[in-house]
Amino acid sequence: MLKTTVAGSLPKPSWLAEPETLWAPWRLEGAELEQGKRDATLIWIKEQEDAGIDIVSSGEQFRDHFVHGFLEHCDGIDWDKKTKMGIRDDRYVVDVPTVTGPVSRKYAIHSDEIRFVRPHVKGGLKFTLPGPMTICDTIANAHYDTRADMAIAFAELLNQEAKELEALGVDTIQFDEPAFNAFMKETVEWGVDALNVARKGLKCTTAVHICYGYGIQANIDWKETLGSEWRQYEEIFPALNASDIDQVSLECANSKVPMDLIGLLKDKDVLVGAIDVASTDIETPEQVADTLMKAMEFVDPERMLACTNCGLAPLLRDVAVGKLQALGAGAALVREKL
Ligand code: ZN
Repeated sequence: MLKTTVAGSLPKPSWLAEPETLWAPWRLEGAELEQGKRDATLIWIKEQEDAGIDIVSSGEQFRDHFVHGFLEHCDGIDWDKKTKMGIRDDRYVVDVPTVTGPVSRKYAIHSDEIRFVRPHVKGGLKFTLPGPMTICDTIANAHYDTRADMAIAFAELLNQEAKELEALGVDTIQFDEPAFNAFMKETVEWGVDALNVARKGLKCTTAVHICYGYGIQANIDWKETLGSEWRQYEEIFPALNASDIDQVSLECANSKVPMDLIGLLKDKDVLVGAIDVASTDIETPEQVADTLMKAMEFVDPERMLACTNCGLAPLLRDVAVGKLQALGAGAALVREKL
C-alpha cells in the first residue's frame, strides 16, 4: 500500500551535462557519451532504490529534451523549417520544427535503453513518453488538417513504441501531458481521445502526468496569473476519469490546486505529488507525510502512490537525492500510521 514513484526526470551528473540547466548540452561525445548515459542511469537506479522508491525511472538520462528526445527519431519533421510558436498557450515563444509530411518512427526509439536498464532494476520500472497533445504543442503543423489529426498520428507512433517497451519489461508507461493544463477545452475535445490511442492494447500499467511544469521562470510567472486557486484540473479530470489510463500523476506539494479535486478521479490510481520541484528546500519526511495525509481525505490509500510534483531534472544532484529520500521516508511514515 502507498507505493512510491517519481514523475520521471532526474538531474544529469555534472560530468554528463551542465547542472541546474533544463535541456542542458552534453559534456561528452560519441562512445563516451553513450557510456556516460548508462553510468548516470545506474547511479539513479541505485539512488532511487536506496531512498525506498518502489517504481523507479531511468531518470531520462538518455535524452536531453522530454519531447524532442522522441521526435528527433521520427520522419515527417523538417528540423530546418522553424516556425515561431507560443507554446503552452503562449507561456513562452520558441522556434519549433515543423511537421511537413506523414509522421513515422525511423526505428524502435527507446528499446536499447530498456534492454540496458531492465536487468538492473529490482522492483518496478517506469518509462516516460511525451503525450500526443504535448507533442503537438511543441511542434508546428504544416501537413495534417488539424492539430487533433496530428495528435492521433503521433499517438499511433507512441503506441507502437509503448508496446515494444512493454514487451521488454517496462511495468508502467507514463505519458507526460503538461499541455492538458493549458488547453483544457481541447483536452476534453480530443486530447484524451489521443491519449487513449497511445495506450490502446497495452497490458502494463499506464499513467498520465499533468503538472504545472518545471520550476523555471516562465512557469513561475505563469502560476502568478492563475489566482489563489488553480482549478484547471477540474475541467479535465472528468474526461480523464472516463479514459483508459490507469493512473493520474498530479502536483499537490506547495500547490494552489484544491486537494478536493482529486475526488474527481474516483476510478483511477492517483500519483500524489508530495515533492515541490520549484524549490531547492528539501522537504522533511513529516512534510511529505502531511501532503499525503491531506490527499488521503479524497483518495483511498489503496489507490494512492506517493510521487514528486514533476521531474527533478533542473535541480542540483544532491538536492534531488535529498528529495527522493524525503519522499521514501515520508511515505514510510504514512504507511506506519495506516
Ligand atoms: Zn511535470
